[in-house]
Amino acid sequence: MSDANPYALLFEPVQIGPVKAKNRFYQVPHCTGLGHMRPRADAAVRGMKAEGGWAVVANQETEIHPSSDLSPFPEGRLWDERDIPALRLMTDAVHKHGALAAIQLVHNGNHAPNHLSRAPLIAPSEMSSDSAMPKQARAMDKEDIRVFRRWHRDAALRAKAAGADIIYVYAGHSMSIAQHFMLPHMNSRTDEYGGSLENRVRLARELLEDTREAVGDTCAVALRFAIDEMQGPDGMQAAEEGRAVVELLSDLPDLWDVNVSGWENDSATTRFQPQDGYQNDYLSFVKKVTGKPVVGVGRLTSPDMMLSMVKKGIVDLIGAARPSIADPFIPKKIEEGRIDEIRECIGCNICVASDNIGIPIRCTQNPTMGEEWRRGWHPEIIQKRGSEEQALVIGSGPAGLECAMQLARRGYGVTLAEGASEFGGRVAKESKLPGLSAWGRVMDYRLNDLAQRSNVEMFTESALGAEQVMELGIRNVFLATGSKWRRDGVGRNTMRNAPEIDSSANILTPDEILSGKIPPNGPVLIYDDDHIYIAGVLAEKLARAGHDVVFATPESLISSFTTYTLEQHRIQARLIELGVDIRCNQSLGALSGETATLTCMFSGRETEIVCSSVVLITERTRETALYDALKPLELKTLELKTLELIGDAAQPGLIVDAVFSGHRAARNFERPKNEAEKDWFRREIIDLEEA
Ligand code: ADP
Ligand code: SF4
Repeated sequence: MSDANPYALLFEPVQIGPVKAKNRFYQVPHCTGLGHMRPRADAAVRGMKAEGGWAVVANQETEIHPSSDLSPFPEGRLWDERDIPALRLMTDAVHKHGALAAIQLVHNGNHAPNHLSRAPLIAPSEMSSDSAMPKQARAMDKEDIRVFRRWHRDAALRAKAAGADIIYVYAGHSMSIAQHFMLPHMNSRTDEYGGSLENRVRLARELLEDTREAVGDTCAVALRFAIDEMQGPDGMQAAEEGRAVVELLSDLPDLWDVNVSGWENDSATTRFQPQDGYQNDYLSFVKKVTGKPVVGVGRLTSPDMMLSMVKKGIVDLIGAARPSIADPFIPKKIEEGRIDEIRECIGCNICVASDNIGIPIRCTQNPTMGEEWRRGWHPEIIQKRGSEEQALVIGSGPAGLECAMQLARRGYGVTLAEGASEFGGRVAKESKLPGLSAWGRVMDYRLNDLAQRSNVEMFTESALGAEQVMELGIRNVFLATGSKWRRDGVGRNTMRNAPEIDSSANILTPDEILSGKIPPNGPVLIYDDDHIYIAGVLAEKLARAGHDVVFATPESLISSFTTYTLEQHRIQARLIELGVDIRCNQSLGALSGETATLTCMFSGRETEIVCSSVVLITERTRETALYDALKPLELKTLELKTLELIGDAAQPGLIVDAVFSGHRAARNFERPKNEAEKDWFRREIIDLEEA
């Protein structure tokens, strides 16, 4: 690359033990929900990162033994040599593009539920399982520790046989036994593995020494270490024991991969950690204490931030999980001076949620994530148009913007019509809510791309009816017309008994609040039967604006879905701090005037509360009026070749679903239907050969 590139420093090679990273871009280990169950798909995810320019591409936590069995969550697995070929797929895919492959070995201790193996749980001391299972882990005796070290060593040899260049000892995220031994609240041992910090670090030291001795001739040995638990004096702190651990182990690993724990702190959402580089204050000491290269993370998407972190001596390597998911081609784009083409992570943690649910990874910003092998999708390449056809996309929310952008990339002439005065649909509105401004990146990235293209025409304040669509004469119409929140209170918990709402009740929908309507003075009842994020954010907005807010939900937690995005506890804490009156396990029975009747989900007991207005967040109704008007015309006149509902108008869901829907529609445009159908069926079938 040319020295004129202001980011040339990021493209210097870095020696890591016996191997050399060709630049400073390092995809740290992250889960994919693919793992040992879907190894081809997993290899394709990793291969794409390597193609995108990352010098190091790691897999995910990789179970070393059946006593660390994370089933049903498909992580990496190296229980025995039969697991090697699956991981070989990954390392081959990474090597093909000149990158180094890393494998993160783990024993999860009491964090492993061992559902499949039914092995006993092990831990530094006697303690409960960290999963929701009614089990306990037993304290490892000296023999257990000896055996455990052998498992780890054998797994390291298997990782090397699978083609790994960097092999991890993992002591992070409160998920690994090496870290559990370090933490006083998990380690009450009185032998040489407990008590003083030196004793508590002994196991990590031994694992590092064992790994180096077994594979260190050709493989680098990395330590992934959580330097701060973010528990204040109740936990490990970077300024105290965190630093002392790095001092004790200093030059023993070939690489320090440092972060904060637990996972909810490491992968903080933008709603609660808006700043990129939010871990810098914690990790800035590490390079002062070790001579070995350091990689750190913190949702790093800005090349300027990356550059300053290297210049200031905070890190040697720019670590990324989520930014590399949202844009596997960040390094290439920086190298080629295409900075404004970076598709920035919005910090929504839908990728994290996929892993927590146990399903293949997906990403709000990058609809091709996880689809590289199954559908053959590439984040930067899309097949060229097959004809001179024109397309009309109606609605510019996430579905319409993605569809229009991909059709334009394919080379079709695209007209995008938006009825509102600004582009962006729900994203434009929701990104104005407290903490969600980074979500605006979903539209910013796409609008920026569309603005560069000469084959695109875009119009706001153009609410189209069926006649206008026919007048335009464009034969391919994609309807991304979205959805509207219901105002009748019907939702998943009121299907059998819809709430009795009389006309004297003052009802507001989320759409009205998002469009700027302000509830009257007096208490506002927020009734949430959606359970995702919107009710919690609206409660925050209204409470901050000085309203007395009552939050009622049939669930036992506020915004319960956000448990998967690792922020539920923060949302509930914030609403409590804001003085919101929280009523869980309550479904809405009736609304009349200023009285709302709530019904206990368990006892059926009724409570009346006084509220001047009610915001109902239950279900959405698809906006299909235009589709319904055009459908008969399509059949009658045959002037329309394509008439397709996409996004929330086809199926109300998350923003990630709308983007995916728009992307798929653009890819499948003019593709024979039977070809498109095949995408559903590319699967990794279990081998029935005798094991
Ligand atoms: P999605 O999540 O599926 O992308 P959104 O609700 O975010 O859907 O966006 C839908 C957009 O479609 C809104 O901005 C709305 O103004 C626009 N829209 C709906 N009907 C029409 C129409 N008939 N003509 C033009 N724009 C429309
Ligand atoms: Fe970032 Fe959200 Fe994509 Fe995860 S799903 S990588 S948090 S944009």
